[in-house]
Amino acid sequence: MKAYFILFYILSVLISNAQKITYSSNLQRSTDKEITEIQKVWNNYTKACMVELIQTKDSISHTYWCSDTNRKGNIDFLKYSIHPTFPMYLLGDIYTYDIKKMNDSIFVLNNILSIEDSIGKNVLSIFKVCAKKTGKGYKLFNYFDFYKSKLNNYNTEYISYYYPCDYEFDTGVAETTNKFYERLIRDFKLSENPVIYILGENVDHGNNFIGFDFTAKSSVLKKAGLFVFPNIILSAQIDHYHELIHVPFLTTFPKANMLFHEGIATYLAGASGYGFEFHLNKLKIMLEKNPLIDFTKLDGLNEFVDDTNIYYTVGAIFIEYANQIGGMGKIKSLFQASGLNNDVFAVIENELGIEKVRFNDFIKQYKN
Ligand SMILES: [Zn+2]
Repeated sequence: MKAYFILFYILSVLISNAQKITYSSNLQRSTDKEITEIQKVWNNYTKACMVELIQTKDSISHTYWCSDTNRKGNIDFLKYSIHPTFPMYLLGDIYTYDIKKMNDSIFVLNNILSIEDSIGKNVLSIFKVCAKKTGKGYKLFNYFDFYKSKLNNYNTEYISYYYPCDYEFDTGVAETTNKFYERLIRDFKLSENPVIYILGENVDHGNNFIGFDFTAKSSVLKKAGLFVFPNIILSAQIDHYHELIHVPFLTTFPKANMLFHEGIATYLAGASGYGFEFHLNKLKIMLEKNPLIDFTKLDGLNEFVDDTNIYYTVGAIFIEYANQIGGMGKIKSLFQASGLNNDVFAVIENELGIEKVRFNDFIKQYKN
């Protein structure tokens, strides 16, 4: 409920202020026709992102993008990189400080996205988007499509891997990972989205390839992975199953509660490089130290401390329990029900028979 209230607040602020991009004084003064045309397209695109969010349509903004990057459900790599359903561009103010001409037809727009609070400005991301002239005027396209010629590429049936020349790529691991993905979508009957899998030294290295100089979703840890809705994975590992699980589940059930999304990924593939049993054990140790912890305050538990995340473990417990009482069908009905009902406690009560008053006891006694 809190998340919806915040979303509603952001929307009402946006509607009253109208989405605006500020340009550097050089760009504002520019009389170059190409630069002023690109500014118009960039303004119109971010406005379209807002309009389609309010009208819950998804058919306006893509007209500002090159059709050759019009991949299924995945036109703009950065739009859902911070939140899976809320466009990044609407999270704060955009300041475009440079539009650089790279060659005869390609331009790179350099932007800062920031949000202001009572103390000062917080930068959410520093990012690049490209533009080029087409038969239908200037169109936007992903920085990744400009950059990817510098990367190596290996395609399995479902996964397209991209990696730098010095990355030690193992095709055997890639094919095994593809088999895991294929089995997952077949067993759970999930949507068959192709995956764009970007490898680097760490998540931030991959972030650079898709156009981020900085993003709030940052990590330099070797075992970390990042899923960008709907089908991009950034990681140092070829077989980051946790992130891979997010692709078909989030594309099939985009509105389902994140508790179940993190739960299924942690139950089937662990998190932060450790299996579900490790996290369950960490939860038991934490409970011995802090027996009065309130698990109903879920949002406050969603952080990694000491290689574990209580929110993920709680989610995985409910997935395991659903599996025990009704197998895959029950797991899927958790996702379906939570896509329709925003109250996760009501879903758990209806689907698993655990009332909110018993929520804490259920987790504390789980497997004891
Ligand atoms: Zn996850």
